[in-house]
Amino acid sequence: MARSSEVPDPTYARTLDCVHCGLCLPACPTHRVLGVEADSPRGRIYLMRALAEGRVEDPNAIRPFLDRCLDCRACETACPSGVRYGEILEDVRSRLQQQSPARGLRAWLVRTLLWHVVARQRRLRAAFWLLRAAEITGLRWLATRLRLVPPTAAALAPKTPPARARRPIPPGRHSPPPGVARRGRAVALFTGCVMEPMFGEINRKTLRLLLANGFDVDVPATQGCCGALLVHAGHAGLARRLAAANVRAFADAEIVISNSAGCGCAMKEYGHLLGDEGGASFASKCRDISEFLAAEGLSATPAARVARVVYDDPCHLCHGQGVRREPRELLAAVPGLELVAHERPEDCCGSAGIYNLLQSELASEIGRRKLEAILAGRPDAIVTANPGCMLQLDSHARASGHSVPVVHLVELLLPSE
Ligand code: SF4
Ligand code: SF4
Repeated sequence: MARSSEVPDPTYARTLDCVHCGLCLPACPTHRVLGVEADSPRGRIYLMRALAEGRVEDPNAIRPFLDRCLDCRACETACPSGVRYGEILEDVRSRLQQQSPARGLRAWLVRTLLWHVVARQRRLRAAFWLLRAAEITGLRWLATRLRLVPPTAAALAPKTPPARARRPIPPGRHSPPPGVARRGRAVALFTGCVMEPMFGEINRKTLRLLLANGFDVDVPATQGCCGALLVHAGHAGLARRLAAANVRAFADAEIVISNSAGCGCAMKEYGHLLGDEGGASFASKCRDISEFLAAEGLSATPAARVARVVYDDPCHLCHGQGVRREPRELLAAVPGLELVAHERPEDCCGSAGIYNLLQSELASEIGRRKLEAILAGRPDAIVTANPGCMLQLDSHARASGHSVPVVHLVELLLPSE
């Protein structure tokens, strides 16, 4: 992020938008837990600006403070000056990675996991089979007992879900079943990387929901990982390759639907990531499933549910995409459902991609506080709209002895069979 007197650096310029007012500090989960200025948005912006101005001798000295940031963007919502914190952080992480790459086993593992496994569906599916085998044979239990994985991460690690063995949704055009009035409009469904092997059931329910509401649904065969986790880890170059592949895969789509807040947010930022018209055009087509259905209206009445539920906003839906009203409006359409508010719906749950594995203790404390706020509403179920949040909330609920289920929004919107 070196400055030049001739070519203004947009990332550096964005750090100058910060007027150091501190209004973002109470919104920042890491600052609330740690109480350290350098672990606040204002402190991190100051560090990134100092780096750009050549006032940081060793870039590795500021890396831990940037690593501890969840990239949850709560500070963007709180900031009255419109500081685009997420763009600054992701640009700086990427430049740091190029100029002074993180070294060691952990950095190698993160890159290998994200690029060679998560970004490739077959390998990811195989990895889940291996995890399942480790679970059945007791190897997973043994690894935890021998402390081969950090205890907090082990406690939070979800059991490999039963949906892992399912086959993916068949690619191609899916049409509404007989008897459903067609809207005369086709949408494309983004099925994601981790979503398919871990939450394939949610993808299938999303497809069913769209079909039940009269939409034709295209599932492009060549789509892949959105690249969000790579962007967060500072590997923007690799993420660009995935983004470009998705732009090509969805070239014919009018609307691209996502049921994962993190993926949807990343795809809406392809214009910034790719820096071209193709990326910006793709981004303009992306909609979260709640955003799309609230705008179009439900034509199929959701099945009745007599339950108290709490809706918890995923950061990358509320702060990242500005989608807050739509999920609540849709939930209000479910007969019998009582939506109860909780105090801090827009706080991060500590999941943040693979943050809960890399910063397990901090993520655990953030998650514990979050769950406490949610459970104060005495819900029968927790509703959210992002796979990472579902895992994190479910893990914390189980770890604290609560059996409250965590469900995806689409599951409550399905009509009766
Ligand atoms: S993105 Fe979240 S964790 Fe990072 S500085 Fe902003 S509020 Fe704090
Ligand atoms: S990021 Fe915004 S809210 Fe936070 S200190 Fe800077 S100007 Fe103030």
